Amino acid sequence: MPIYDYECDNCRSVFEVILKVGGTPPPCPNCGNSECGRLITAPAVHVKQDHATARIEKRVRDYLMDGKVSDATRFADKAASTVKSDRVKRIADKLHQKTGK
Ligand SMILES: [Zn+2]
Repeated sequence: MPIYDYECDNCRSVFEVILKVGGTPPPCPNCGNSECGRLITAPAVHVKQDHATARIEKRVRDYLMDGKVSDATRFADKAASTVKSDRVKRIADKLHQKTGK
């Protein structure tokens, strides 16, 4: 399910909502105002990053299946510096532990 960022029209607090397509947004968790506008740029960023992360994970797995641990580590490092994703960073960290570098 997509994650949306909402901004409260009243107090301007921004909160994340996991929402079904066509679902009703919840009221503001800060002030209870129900007039909250969706920040439309956010979901695209989330989706894009998820796709990139999945691709990176697959590539790392492929390297590991071929026994190329150092190639996998190098790739994960590079990916972690370009994609700002905690998940990718954790993959890179794990590989470093594996190789002891
Ligand atoms: Zn509010």
